[in-house]
Amino acid sequence: MDIQHLSSPAQPVVAVRGLTKAYDDRTVVDHLDLTVHDGEVLGLIGANGAGKTTTVEILQGLRRQDSGEVRVLGLDPVRDADRVRQHVGSQLQSSGLPDRLRVAEAVDLFSGRRAIDGDLLLERFGLAQRRRSPFAGLSGGERQRLFLVLALVNRPRLVILDELTQGLDPAARREVWSAISQLHADGTTVLLVTHELDEAQALCDRVVAMRDGRVLDHGTPAELVARHAGHATVRFTLPHQDVAATAESLQQLNRLPGASNVAHSNDQVTVRGTRSVIAHVGAWLVASQRPIPPDLHVDIPDLEAALLTLLDQPTDQNLTGAAS
Ligand code: ATP
Repeated sequence: MDIQHLSSPAQPVVAVRGLTKAYDDRTVVDHLDLTVHDGEVLGLIGANGAGKTTTVEILQGLRRQDSGEVRVLGLDPVRDADRVRQHVGSQLQSSGLPDRLRVAEAVDLFSGRRAIDGDLLLERFGLAQRRRSPFAGLSGGERQRLFLVLALVNRPRLVILDELTQGLDPAARREVWSAISQLHADGTTVLLVTHELDEAQALCDRVVAMRDGRVLDHGTPAELVARHAGHATVRFTLPHQDVAATAESLQQLNRLPGASNVAHSNDQVTVRGTRSVIAHVGAWLVASQRPIPPDLHVDIPDLEAALLTLLDQPTDQNLTGAAS
């Protein structure tokens, strides 16, 4: 049966309700609700041991839940394991390929009945020149891109990636990011487990933050930043001027849209407020027709700040279990 009949684009690709899993009586996934929509890149982020990997292993049929309902493309990952495997691409672990296996051989080995032309995929992910290289001769970034090729070769509807860029240097991470952006542009649904919050911010349409097997919050990266990351801060030295002029400058800064607090000490001004205050302080500096202060410094709230705030919340506050 074609997968189109199993899950239409309007239906979620992943639908999890009340998922619970314990190891040795310790609950590590606790009544989790999770929805992954068609064509989105969803990031699972959170503390170590939050249950992220356990959750994606259950989605792949590698583990069985204790209770709760799990549907991947409308299928039960354990009962319909073969069909789920046909339509879900998963990333291998580094130990997953023999050292001497060549890149093109690995692609042939993984290609099923519905496979895409492997050479085209290798070309697309910048591995065409490495077709004859043994796996052991690939750099970290090349290995990860090969894992992506192998996860994609059978035209999956859903790709599950668990810490894909862990341990890569910045250039290799960017290569892998760009490969994931290509997948997104093609409409492939991606579920990404990551500790790299700049990665989640750059790649994910939505993120789900987890702790102790439950959902702390979910939304677009921008929504989580707005809800939890606190203030933007702009700091600079105010050019020396007389007391009245300084007081006037501080009053103007206080009146800027988005400013919530202006502090002044030893000629240093700190303006706190919403993200938009950054633009307004910049405009104010330009309009003042004085040289832009060389020590101008901006702290922009990001997903890392948001997650740290969320993880700091006392246990049981705001834990919903749900991320739909
Ligand atoms: P990390 O970010 O550190 O990879 P995670 O969010 O992916 O963590 P899991 O790997 O799902 O979390 O682990 C959740 C909890 O379950 C952890 O406390 C882990 O030690 C425990 N755990 C995982 N696998 C097993 C297992 N096979 N047997 C017993 N406990 C396990």
